[in-house]
Amino acid sequence: MSKLYLVPTPIGNLEDMTLRAIRILKEVDIILAEDTRKTGNLLRHFEIEKPMFAHHKFNEHKALPSLIERIKGGETIALVSDAGTPAISDPGFLIARACIENDIEIETLPGPTAFIPALVNSGLPNDRFSFEGFLPQKKGRQKRIQELASEQKTMVFYESPYRLVKTLTQLAEVLGEERNASVSRELTKIHEENVRGTLKELIEYYSKSTVKGEIVLIVEGNR
Ligand code: SAM
Repeated sequence: MSKLYLVPTPIGNLEDMTLRAIRILKEVDIILAEDTRKTGNLLRHFEIEKPMFAHHKFNEHKALPSLIERIKGGETIALVSDAGTPAISDPGFLIARACIENDIEIETLPGPTAFIPALVNSGLPNDRFSFEGFLPQKKGRQKRIQELASEQKTMVFYESPYRLVKTLTQLAEVLGEERNASVSRELTKIHEENVRGTLKELIEYYSKSTVKGEIVLIVEGNR
């Protein structure tokens, strides 16, 4: 039966590609990829040969009607993002919702995503947590941070290395510099680093040198 598969891909270490992800990508009719060049490398590595189409934040709205028609017409489609799970701070939500509205089955494979290992690695309570994704870069940023002052659940942020110290500093101003946090950098890669401490300690640590790589920031909730 035709359907949409959302297929997670590794966030750095190719060994994290699941056997099922490989099989599904080999079985579908077409693969939608955020960046066809990046996904092309992944497909070559796993010897997957399939027609690939670009599906990213700049064309995902426009592409929806024809993709829905293709699936209704009997094709099975897989969506992958550059890394991790589609729709998690990546394209995927819109097409998943459109499929549901059109009675098209969707299936999301379990697999790599950056925030789960970062959360578990942090050692902060994870029985309840709030996924915050990327903070707004400009408009609404301060308001969002102010709103988080009363958040009791552990908070999960995606952050760029260039903004890490700025974000830690702004969070410290509102949440207090003694709030515990954890920074996971380059998860699953050769230079993986997990640093835990208060916001004050993390600001000191990351102010010492240029921060590089991909980052998940975990911040303790208001106790
Ligand atoms: N869909 C992805 C997922 O499931 O995690 C997230 C995509 S989002 C555009 C990219 C952000 O995820 C990065 O800026 C970083 O915050 C985080 N990220 C991705 N890979 C990572 C890694 N290997 N280590 C730490 N953070 C990572």
